[in-house]
Amino acid sequence: MAEGRAYLDWNATAPLLPEAREAVMRALDLVGNPSSIHAEGRAARAMIEQARADVAALVGGEAENVVFTSGATEAINAVLKQGLTGCCGRNLAVGSRVIIGATEHAAVLAAAGPRAEIAPVDADGLIDLDALKAMLASGGPALVVIQLANNETGVLQSIRTIAEIVHAEGGALVVDAVQGPGRLFTPLGVELRDADAIIVSAHKFGGPKGVGAIVFADHRTRLGSALIPGGGQERGQRGGTENVAGIAGMGAAARAVMVELAPQKLSQLCDGFESRLKRIAPDVRIVGQGVPRLVNTSLFAVPGIAAEKALIAFDLAGVAVSSGSACSSGKVKASHVLKAMNAPDWVIAGAIRVSIGPTTTEAELEKALDVIARLVAKRPASPILAEKSAQNSSAA
Ligand code: PLP
Repeated sequence: MAEGRAYLDWNATAPLLPEAREAVMRALDLVGNPSSIHAEGRAARAMIEQARADVAALVGGEAENVVFTSGATEAINAVLKQGLTGCCGRNLAVGSRVIIGATEHAAVLAAAGPRAEIAPVDADGLIDLDALKAMLASGGPALVVIQLANNETGVLQSIRTIAEIVHAEGGALVVDAVQGPGRLFTPLGVELRDADAIIVSAHKFGGPKGVGAIVFADHRTRLGSALIPGGGQERGQRGGTENVAGIAGMGAAARAVMVELAPQKLSQLCDGFESRLKRIAPDVRIVGQGVPRLVNTSLFAVPGIAAEKALIAFDLAGVAVSSGSACSSGKVKASHVLKAMNAPDWVIAGAIRVSIGPTTTEAELEKALDVIARLVAKRPASPILAEKSAQNSSAA
């Protein structure tokens, strides 16, 4: 990272951990194809199998149930396009009913396509459990994809309850747990006994970009068929010579986040940031404040400050943050997450996300707060603040 910059965009991607870098470099020096039976091939295979065990441990699963992919987006596409077989004694293969949460990642929305039924969320971004129950009860078993934590707001879904509802109606639950590792008090924050499959992505927890995994709850559960058929790799579920370096890096990162006790520190830093933010802008809206949320994520909006302009000010001041959702075109577009939560227009237009990690410092957060203070000083008078002080003076 460039000297002097404050990187506060860990939910977009986390910096590579030294352990992961070291594993990647070691793997790049291996010549063998992991499918070859000679010593060189076996050395590459050993690296993959070590990583498989480490990723399984992160999720509390078994190594034999891990399928490596090119990232969470591929894993999501594989599950949604190929369906699942073998789970809960049902066949939810291609063409079966699909239900996804309204605030899922763009990868889920795109892979599920127009046939997907959308489970609504409340104003805090939590899945409306009664609505989900009614959807399942009226339409029959479905493949349900719900995220553990939202990448924009950090809001955490109650996966255990959702799993009970889905399983009671004979459905299968796939959890997009991409934002879990390294941010929650348990290694992953969701247990495989609740979900039929869990999806993770290495670069969100200090591994390299472009590698992820699906971890199935048991050895019977598998994809309906491979999204990428090929030479039978990954138990026939993902063809193509494995990305040995990426997989080795993912395994090393998984091992590292399991021993790191980051959440305590993240929680203190984030709380401190939010209380100072409230002092700078008493009319700030912090999204999802009243519900369980990731300890590293703060999505907020200040009346009179537009996200698009603010992002430029942050960047010029050496602070990397993001608006509600990162956008590949580099343009900020209205967040479907905040829209689904029925957030007011000013929140949608002004949402800024600060997301941190174990190496974040108070000084970096202070730098971000300085930018916010400058923007607040320059903004037009806040109607919300004026209304609040009028209320206070009439109450006094
Ligand atoms: N799901 C969630 C919740 C995410 O935050 C992301 C990444 O932004 C993805 C899925 C996609 O992950 P990947 O970058 O590995 O394709």
